Amino acid sequence: MTGGRERGGRIVIVGAGQAGYQSAAFLRERGHAGPLTLIGDEGVLAYERPPLSKAYLTGEVGEEQLWLRPETFYTRRAIERVTGSVVALERAARRVRLGDGRVYGYDHLVMATGARARTPAVPGAGLRGVHTLRTLADAAALKTQLARAGRVVVVGAGFVGLEFAAAARQSGCQVTVLEARGRPLARTASAPVAAHVARLHEAHGSRLLFGQDIVRFHDGGGGRVAAVELAGGRRLPADLVLAGVGATPCTAPAEAAGLRVEDGIVTDSWLLTSDPHISAIGDCALFPHPRAGTRLRVESVQNAVGHARLVADRLTGTIRTYDDLPWLWSTQFSTTLQIAGLGHRHDDELVLGQDPDAFSVLLFRNGALTAVESVNRAADHMAARRLLAGNIPLGRLEAAAPGFTLHGHLTARTSHPTSRPVPAAA
Ligand SMILES: Cc1cc2nc3c(=O)[nH]c(=O)nc-3n(C[C@H](O)[C@H](O)[C@H](O)COP(=O)(O)OP(=O)(O)OC[C@H]3O[C@@H](n4cnc5c(N)ncnc54)[C@H](O)[C@@H]3O)c2cc1C
Repeated sequence: MTGGRERGGRIVIVGAGQAGYQSAAFLRERGHAGPLTLIGDEGVLAYERPPLSKAYLTGEVGEEQLWLRPETFYTRRAIERVTGSVVALERAARRVRLGDGRVYGYDHLVMATGARARTPAVPGAGLRGVHTLRTLADAAALKTQLARAGRVVVVGAGFVGLEFAAAARQSGCQVTVLEARGRPLARTASAPVAAHVARLHEAHGSRLLFGQDIVRFHDGGGGRVAAVELAGGRRLPADLVLAGVGATPCTAPAEAAGLRVEDGIVTDSWLLTSDPHISAIGDCALFPHPRAGTRLRVESVQNAVGHARLVADRLTGTIRTYDDLPWLWSTQFSTTLQIAGLGHRHDDELVLGQDPDAFSVLLFRNGALTAVESVNRAADHMAARRLLAGNIPLGRLEAAAPGFTLHGHLTARTSHPTSRPVPAAA
């Protein structure tokens, strides 16, 4: 079972997060009848991570609402759930070994090990009160701390840092966000969106400091953080620190087994690793994307689900290459930011909409639309996804015309005025 056309082979999935759960679910949905084992090291049912930095922290969503599926979902579909950490891929014998010595044989192995939060490489990062946010356990600890903390410092103005900062402010904390670069979302969003996000946090009373490198966390006594020191010596008092400085893909067992690993487990366009009996999906996979013209590692629910679907299709006989349109969302305070497409290498941009709190930014490269970022404009986002996924052309001149809307453009390009009317039912 390499490309995987046999329906009865043993499939083992390592990592019971969004991508792992989803691939097991899709495999059964598509008729995989062989043994199916889902191994995860968190000891809980697969859950949604997005609310961990948002509604879970503010108490709008409880733990029981995070589970992707109840226990019965797995038992009814004969998906064997195993709790444990896979420490070795024994490729020659086609089996995985857990830390406690248990082994599981496979015909095809799916690596869905995700990523883990990075810790800042400065002294004091291990102090109590300095947290990262990746897992439900991280979020539960932060939620408890937020109820007690007065002064919160967030290191890193990426999505997780900013979402946590919003939740901390909504919990009544004094919030300072530190960012090494010159603006928020420097790697992920355009300048107009970044400016909006900065204004949004400032309007809610948070302080954002850019171009700030941290050099140390100070111990206030008893091993608990009391301040964050910046390059230049300034100290910011802190009861609680969130380090939102990105995530590192979990690749150790893959790398030790000799699979090709760079910033993620390297795959081809079919999401197969350098071993044709092993696929890699979700946050841990570094895969070629035709829209990027290069290999990418994407951390989003859409990517995890899209990868899971492609691998389940392949293992049940429908083979295609991966080219799903990337999209994601972020919620901060009552603002929703949605991004469709890949805008990181844009050379031109155009803002749609006059309302400073509801607009979209169209990003172009070499005159072609590559991404749309929408702030509180859900209809633009949905239209953008269809335009981009369908490769429906849109040039800057057209988009700049008075009265232009993405939805209008989509309708004009997808309606078929010449098609014959459907006959009425007899
Ligand atoms: C706080 C937070 C907020 C987010 N918000 C959004 C959002 O708003 N929108 C969006 O699109 N995306 C968001 N994301 C990203 C999204 O949640 C991830 O892209 C998605 O969870 C990736 O799924 P995955 O299955 O690849 O990895 P994960 O969900 O990380 O699952 C991987 C699992 O594998 C386990 N594992 C790792 N190594 C082993 C091993 N050796 N043995 C056994 N198990 C192992 C891990 O413990 C983990 O349980 C957010 C992420 C975080 C952390």
